[in-house]
Amino acid sequence: MSSIQKKTDVILIGAGVMSATLGSLLKELAPEWEIKVFEKLANAGEESSNEWNNAGTGHAALCELNYTSEKADGSIDISKAVNINEQFQLSRQFWSFLVNSNLIRNPQDFIKSIPHMSLVIGEQDVSFLNRRFKALSNVPLFRGMEFSDDPEKLKEWIPLIMEGRTSSEPIAATKIDSGTDVNFGALTRMLFDHLQSKNVEIKYKHSIKNIKRTSDGSWEVKVHNLESGKIEYHTAKFIFIGGGGGSLPLLQRTGIPESKHIGGFPVSGLFMVCNNPKVVEQHHAKVYGKAKLGAPPMSVPHLDTRYIGNKKALLFGPFAGFSPKFLKTGSNLDLICSVKPNNLFTMLAAGVKEMALTKYLIQQVMLSNEKRLEELREFIPNAKIEDWEIVIAGQRVQVIKDTEAGKGTLQFGTEVVSAADGSVAALLGASPGASTAVNVMLEVLERCFPQHMKEWEPKIKEMIPSYGVSLAENPELFQEIHDSTTQTLGLGEKEPIHG
Ligand SMILES: Cc1cc2nc3c(=O)[nH]c(=O)nc-3n(C[C@H](O)[C@H](O)[C@H](O)COP(=O)(O)OP(=O)(O)OC[C@H]3O[C@@H](n4cnc5c(N)ncnc54)[C@H](O)[C@@H]3O)c2cc1C
Repeated sequence: MSSIQKKTDVILIGAGVMSATLGSLLKELAPEWEIKVFEKLANAGEESSNEWNNAGTGHAALCELNYTSEKADGSIDISKAVNINEQFQLSRQFWSFLVNSNLIRNPQDFIKSIPHMSLVIGEQDVSFLNRRFKALSNVPLFRGMEFSDDPEKLKEWIPLIMEGRTSSEPIAATKIDSGTDVNFGALTRMLFDHLQSKNVEIKYKHSIKNIKRTSDGSWEVKVHNLESGKIEYHTAKFIFIGGGGGSLPLLQRTGIPESKHIGGFPVSGLFMVCNNPKVVEQHHAKVYGKAKLGAPPMSVPHLDTRYIGNKKALLFGPFAGFSPKFLKTGSNLDLICSVKPNNLFTMLAAGVKEMALTKYLIQQVMLSNEKRLEELREFIPNAKIEDWEIVIAGQRVQVIKDTEAGKGTLQFGTEVVSAADGSVAALLGASPGASTAVNVMLEVLERCFPQHMKEWEPKIKEMIPSYGVSLAENPELFQEIHDSTTQTLGLGEKEPIHG
């Protein structure tokens, strides 16, 4: 074993969609900075960002019922939905900038137009959906959404879901044609190809083992070259820990005060997949239902048309489960090794509070294929087991931290944790995830490079014209941006969204 010492401006750990996005933003804002990427696997986008490991929904709150909650007076709180939609508009704008600048090509290889629908059954939920629809209809971002509780209309929209349905319970759905299916794996690979063409050094099969401060305030990473077996040391002024589920242990290694009292709770997932063309052809939408009582928000069931490897398939799920691994390719010791003296009480408190969730996840792991089929039949009454197979999805590591709500509170969103001097930042959590990568990486820039933001702002606005502006409050700008990104990304919508 020998050791090599190398210096660079920026180190990105992990070749997922987050590092890809941050690297692509930095290459435009500070082209002279030297960037290096270390990835322990052999290719980019192989963990959560891989097309088979996530649901590929361009989350814009067009169909996800957990982004709108019911207030005590029966009105619907749409603030989270508006916020997430605004964030997705930033992603659309940045991707369009990359396409228009010929930095990436063929957007149809990573994004496709697909109606987003919400589906509910039962009087109470139908009333909720109707109120949600009315509240969202007042916001330009959701223009074009339709509501129907007419079974004949629903048969037109979702024949596969309506066929063989015998229950007389009320049923309703909303539909909006401006939804998207995003192949985040393909996008990640495209972005890394682009970065490589701009002289970013991407070192695959290189695993980061440790991160340490140096005497001059830079950071040194200890890297295991998995091919040669050699240990290398690289230093950088700024490090982004984009290790997905693997970010928490690396953040802990930095020892920064901000890394203390934080834990991770891994949630595994699996999908049922149908490749039978006769079934696949009968469905053309992403249809989100309501989470079952006690189920975490990430296990909202949905039946999706997906485009993977130029093939259309249907995916149903995700079924959540418990696994102690922080990455799909991780180790069964990940969870236990993440417990440190500084987060022990936070983790224990979460363990006590989240007993019901743990029990739910363990029950989910134990589900037989027959039981899963029963859940699928709530969506497709005539589903046949022989048309469906199981694929294991990615791991999500939910953040546990002490909040005003109490010690050891489980968080379902994404969190940027950064050092006070902005020299290191990590991304934890997984929802809404890849769809909002541009917004989250802009947050990393704002936190870690405040001294450059004034100088960078004109370029950011060139790439992302709505940066710093609320589109919900500027309907004309929204329409202009939405139309132009629709055209650039080839998202030919069947129905215009002009109201
Ligand atoms: C079941 C499921 C469904 C989802 N559905 C959606 C969806 O519909 N829409 C959406 O927008 N988002 C979705 N997400 C979330 C989304 O997939 C993630 O937010 C996103 O992919 C995270 O990207 P990342 O770059 O942070 O992590 P990853 O893609 O996991 O990349 C991290 C990389 O870091 C590498 N790494 C880790 N540790 C080290 C180390 N020590 N040294 C070197 N390399 C390391 C890993 O090998 C990996 O390649 C879903 C996630 C899951 C699990």
